[in-house]
Amino acid sequence: MMGMNEALARLLERAAVKGTVLRDEPMARHTSFRVGGPADVLVLPGSAEELAAALRICREEGAPARVIGAGTNLIVADAGVRGAVIALGEGFSAVTRDGLSIEAEAGAKLARVSQEALAAGLTGLEFAAGIPGTVGGGAVMNAGAYGGEIAGCLEWADILGRDGSVARLSNAEMGFGYRTSLPLREGGVVLRARFTLRPGDVEEIGAAMREFNRRRRVKQPLEYPSAGSTFKRPEGHFAGALIEQAGCKGLAVGGAQVSEKHAGFIVNTGGATAADILALIGEVRRRVFEQSGVRLEREVRLLGAEEDA
Ligand SMILES: Cc1cc2nc3c(=O)[nH]c(=O)nc-3n(C[C@H](O)[C@H](O)[C@H](O)COP(=O)(O)OP(=O)(O)OC[C@H]3O[C@@H](n4cnc5c(N)ncnc54)[C@H](O)[C@@H]3O)c2cc1C
Repeated sequence: MMGMNEALARLLERAAVKGTVLRDEPMARHTSFRVGGPADVLVLPGSAEELAAALRICREEGAPARVIGAGTNLIVADAGVRGAVIALGEGFSAVTRDGLSIEAEAGAKLARVSQEALAAGLTGLEFAAGIPGTVGGGAVMNAGAYGGEIAGCLEWADILGRDGSVARLSNAEMGFGYRTSLPLREGGVVLRARFTLRPGDVEEIGAAMREFNRRRRVKQPLEYPSAGSTFKRPEGHFAGALIEQAGCKGLAVGGAQVSEKHAGFIVNTGGATAADILALIGEVRRRVFEQSGVRLEREVRLLGAEEDA
């Protein structure tokens, strides 16, 4: 007898003309932490239509569906993810420029969009040049760095709701906060976004990007798999400094370690499991609270088991 996952995979395959459907696909291959068990079905849609069809099929079949981007802010459970994971990337990544605006599909990399801005002499996206995620992930997370954030330049985003309808949300309607947005809190898939920038000087824009990327290389443990900053910045503090003061620098559980280079990052030094990372996060939070009374909040999102993605 055909199992439920096989039936789901076949339906999804039929809808994926340009895209790809993978069964029991290890999510460690699709996350920057290089951690995570298998998704029952992983869909890499080839177009907006294929994404919409995949979500509709999952809805009709009563199968859970989770949309992710480049997996650079994720811990996927070791047990994997039941139902479908839909990862937006190459197949759904058109970027077009129109005057001072750049429109990008959700799977486009933020780095690519900022290169497009640089080439057109547009300022406002320099901060995003070294953020490894996608437009969709960046928009829902309100990704930011070096004083800039997505909320500062996003004009609107098209959001696919749970019922299959699409709404164009303005910047104000996106409900941005620090590393959060309305679609992240309430569900909703970013299909595409438009960024409105200002005319700038190509040399200065390029110099700012190079400088930000230099700072990343100097300060961040980019030589190890990670998901960037593990925790949000607590009001009035820096997570990295609190973690260091609590004596957690270098602290390890299995293959997960609080980076020796930047305590705000947990890195996979080889063979880490999601359980290692979560245990380490728990221990760091406990020690930081004991030492400083500050409750660190996770920035990295969980998918599978105890999920919040
Ligand atoms: C080395 C490194 C450096 C980093 N530096 C920064 C930094 O400076 N600033 C910063 O803010 N972040 C940083 N990050 C974290 C990460 O790159 C950002 O959070 C990024 O915006 C996540 O995008 P993604 O496509 O990888 O999303 P994913 O990790 O795939 O997903 C993150 C969340 O967004 C949701 N999501 C993804 N795509 C969509 C969509 N289309 N519609 C609806 N929901 C969606 C997912 O369900 C999940 O909840 C860094 C990560 C690494 C590994």
